[in-house]
Amino acid sequence: MELNIHILNYLGGMLQPSLDGGQLEVFNPSNGKVYTHAPNSSAADVDLAVKSAQDAFPSWSNTAVEERSRILMKIADGIDDRFEELAYAETLDNGKPLWLSKQMDIPRAAANIRFFANAITQFSSESHETTGLSAINYTLRSPIGVVGCISPWNLPLYLFTWKIAPAIAAGNTVIAKPSEVTPLTASIFSEICMKVGLPPGVLNILHGQGHKVGEAMSRHPDIKALSFTGSTRVGREIASIAAPMFKKLSLEMGGKNPVIIFDDCNYEKMLKTVVRSSFINQGQICLCGSRIYVQRSVYDRFKQDFVAAAQNMKAGPPLEADTQTGAIVSQAHYEKILRHIETAKREGGTILCGGKPVFPAGHEDGWYISPTIIEGLPQHCTTNQDEIFGPVVTITAFESEEEVLAMANDSYYGLACSLWTENASRTHRMAKSIQTGIVWINTWLMRDLRTPFGGMKNSGVGREGGLEALRFFTEPKNVCIQY
Ligand code: NAD
Repeated sequence: MELNIHILNYLGGMLQPSLDGGQLEVFNPSNGKVYTHAPNSSAADVDLAVKSAQDAFPSWSNTAVEERSRILMKIADGIDDRFEELAYAETLDNGKPLWLSKQMDIPRAAANIRFFANAITQFSSESHETTGLSAINYTLRSPIGVVGCISPWNLPLYLFTWKIAPAIAAGNTVIAKPSEVTPLTASIFSEICMKVGLPPGVLNILHGQGHKVGEAMSRHPDIKALSFTGSTRVGREIASIAAPMFKKLSLEMGGKNPVIIFDDCNYEKMLKTVVRSSFINQGQICLCGSRIYVQRSVYDRFKQDFVAAAQNMKAGPPLEADTQTGAIVSQAHYEKILRHIETAKREGGTILCGGKPVFPAGHEDGWYISPTIIEGLPQHCTTNQDEIFGPVVTITAFESEEEVLAMANDSYYGLACSLWTENASRTHRMAKSIQTGIVWINTWLMRDLRTPFGGMKNSGVGREGGLEALRFFTEPKNVCIQY
């Protein structure tokens, strides 16, 4: 597919380069080559974007909810209209298989927008009658003002829309920064917003590096709230700047998610799903399971079947229909994953499959790593504690429920867990005791957008999703009337 690629900032309703004209190279992970450039914005661009968002705020925050909802619905339709192009662009930019962009990323981006376009029409305030004192309290929920949304490269348009949709629906005006590694679909999104007539300044999209434009957003005194998805390291940096300024913060960060397999599970369903939860999107989903704990009685069977399934997966060019895992997003990330595999070997791990780069014919300079399964590592090694965020998992045997619960919770992270068992009592017991924000039982990555989404411990602060996101992007005010 031929794309007309010209990545620009979207500011005050117009497309424009960064003020100083600085540019960044953007790479195609499938062949390791630069395919385009994007603006390398700076603090001056953030100032300008904030001004544009401030100008738009009075009118947008007073626009009827139905009208905001209607415009968002048109944006979602605009995504549908450019579905093929957006899917291709996401794959070109990120390296994920084209079928995955079509199955997951782009449909979900449209669904995110539609979801919040609907949710805002159902968002209501509470009222409390204070009996005995003849008073009524009601809660006003007003938009905050200018807010910032910073998103990562692993699900570029999916997570970008997940943040900006509730922010805009709730009446805020937004400065959004997509990852500099994957700017393309956000840039096409700007064109959609212009076409459907989103008022200028309601959404401003700045491209550029985290430590420049992202940090300038964290420091800007007039950006009153920040919603961030990315690594725990960067989340901590943002919090260290923004928390002393008393900005409202929502941080969705890294994970080291346990998968717990009991011998009484539905084995076939479990095996199929665990292959997916380990390697889909090259293991680059914050919710992917990376520490797999298997009950001893079923360990050998699982190991054999899991390794066979992983060895059968084709790691290859993302545009080829039979590719199951595509390219790793960037050279830096590819090298980081390979370093993690070397660490696992030094720590005494046995590589059961994969563990090596792959060089598909005609794409030798792309960044490919085959699905990798490692066993024999202790709980307290770097490999079992640090987030790798690639197609690399460890498997470990356990005997009892108590033992596996302790191992699953023995982590700095607390994002998601998946549990495989047909024992109902154990299901509820464990779901309550596992220290993660999301617990999937006999499934994985099943998402109902109304549910609270986020992590505990170093995986997150706050929750997104459904009304949680609308609450985050509004300021509640108590009004008390005595009659
Ligand atoms: P990252 O933290 O490097 O970057 C995320 C975003 O932050 C990018 O837009 C980046 O430019 C920006 N950024 C970088 N430095 C910044 C700074 N100093 N100030 C402000 N912004 C800055 O993360 P990544 O490598 O793009 O994404 C992978 C990480 O994201 C993984 O750790 C993964 O677990 C996490 N993630 C979490 C979730 C979740 O919902 N919890 C979802 C997806 C990804």
